[in-house]
Amino acid sequence: MTSSITLMGVKGGPAIRPGSNMPTSNLLRMGGQTILIDAGLGCTRGICDAGVPLTGIDCIVITHLHSDHYLELGPFFHTAWTAGLNRPIRVIGPEGLQAYWDGFLSSMAFDIKLRQDDEGRCPLAPLAEIEVITDGPTAIGDVSLQAMRNLHPPIHDTYALRFDCAGKRIVVSGDTAFMPEMIDFAESADILVHEAMLIEGVEALVARMTNGDDRLRTHILRSHTSAEDVGRIAQDAGVKQLALTHMVPDGDPDFTEAHWVAEIRKHFNGRFQIGTDGVTLTT
Ligand SMILES: [Zn+2]
Ligand SMILES: [Zn+2]
Repeated sequence: MTSSITLMGVKGGPAIRPGSNMPTSNLLRMGGQTILIDAGLGCTRGICDAGVPLTGIDCIVITHLHSDHYLELGPFFHTAWTAGLNRPIRVIGPEGLQAYWDGFLSSMAFDIKLRQDDEGRCPLAPLAEIEVITDGPTAIGDVSLQAMRNLHPPIHDTYALRFDCAGKRIVVSGDTAFMPEMIDFAESADILVHEAMLIEGVEALVARMTNGDDRLRTHILRSHTSAEDVGRIAQDAGVKQLALTHMVPDGDPDFTEAHWVAEIRKHFNGRFQIGTDGVTLTT
């Protein structure tokens, strides 16, 4: 059976601008399961653009609680509900998601009550079945999910994800600095979707910032992986197909495909592509 992952948002970070890609969300189709991985801004539109009805999501996994990975979780549920969702969807993610969901429900209480009373819709609250992610393997139907705590300071509850089913393996790095453990974790992956940054691009991005200070630069450099190191991981892990996501910079005309390719090709000579919103990788 074919497995696939659609990269619905490949831009690193929460801001969007004219011409940029969208923040992080991915749609994994494996073993008969349709799994949303991260729910950044644009995930709801992205699911529809991938040809999947919102009511067709079986499970949601959130890697960590930076807004670019879950800002649209509540709006996704609300929109799926108005599109006919009438059964719970499992949401697996770090501690704190329940508080987010409760807060979302209370922020929209007027509308939710109205639609329940006036339109006869089922209660929205129970549609999200939230559970805290653990390091152990978790079964999602026939798919086995393995989470590994990654390196994304100052956040502690932040994870890389590995999905195995019927001999196929798809690995998503989450947001992380380089960690040698990723090589074992991604061993022989059919597809590795890894975050990446161009160091020179980070400098250019920070130089243009109008409302922050040097802490952003420090955060990015200690919490993310250079494209060169991504190539090293993919090569050493024997990855069959690599795609870049969460790209920093994104939408900067000074940094083109050639820059990314040059960094990846320092170490990795396998099949590789730069992510763009809406691209699907299959195995
Ligand atoms: Zn992020
Ligand atoms: Zn992050």
